[in-house]
Amino acid sequence: MKEGLELLNLLQKHDDQTSNIETTIKEIPITIKTLEEERDSKKNIIENVKIKRQENVKIREQLEKKILVIKEKITKYREQMNKSTTNKEYQGFIIEIKFEEDQISAVEEKIIQRMLEFDEIMDEIREREDDFNHIAADYNKRIKELNDHLEYNKSKLKEENSKKSELRKKIPQNLLKAYDNLFQKKAGKVISVVETEFCGICNIKIRPQLLNEIISTNNLYICENCGRILYKQIRAEEETGS
Ligand SMILES: [Zn+2]
Repeated sequence: MKEGLELLNLLQKHDDQTSNIETTIKEIPITIKTLEEERDSKKNIIENVKIKRQENVKIREQLEKKILVIKEKITKYREQMNKSTTNKEYQGFIIEIKFEEDQISAVEEKIIQRMLEFDEIMDEIREREDDFNHIAADYNKRIKELNDHLEYNKSKLKEENSKKSELRKKIPQNLLKAYDNLFQKKAGKVISVVETEFCGICNIKIRPQLLNEIISTNNLYICENCGRILYKQIRAEEETGS
């Protein structure tokens, strides 16, 4: 029975290990997703400037349309001017046309300002793209490391599982059945390692008589409180080598 219990204790260790690996495997993709979302949200720093660029283009288009409208007006004035019959009328059109031409100059001035602003916006976009690329590269590096870690854990899990099934073959059927039963009921914690006089899992003090039996025999004992299999690993006993 002693060997059987030792094998069960070993099996518990393997089960603990696989459970840890499974948790890691489950958690890594969640972390990756969070990082990806965080990385992509940083793109806003570029998008905001691109909106500024769109607005700039739109305003310039409007200003150019305005010039076209004024030019049409001038053409009409010229036609009317050519048909004018009095000098006073003629002079009146000259003044109107001059006024409209000044308007065009003013609008052109505004367009030039917008063009200068456009160049600045383009510089800003390039700068922010550089910034984002740096930030993204950093994120991508972390994501790659996590993916590598995930792959490593997946292969480790495979390895653990095959080791475990080898081990299970060596364990007597009745013990294995008891273990598997408890495994379901006790959330994967079947073996309680007893190092002193307490149950290693629920920490209840083991009755002296029961403790004696655990130490002196190799029988299977169950914790009277939590129902787990008690596995003795009494330090003093190990040291004396009995
Ligand atoms: Zn217990």
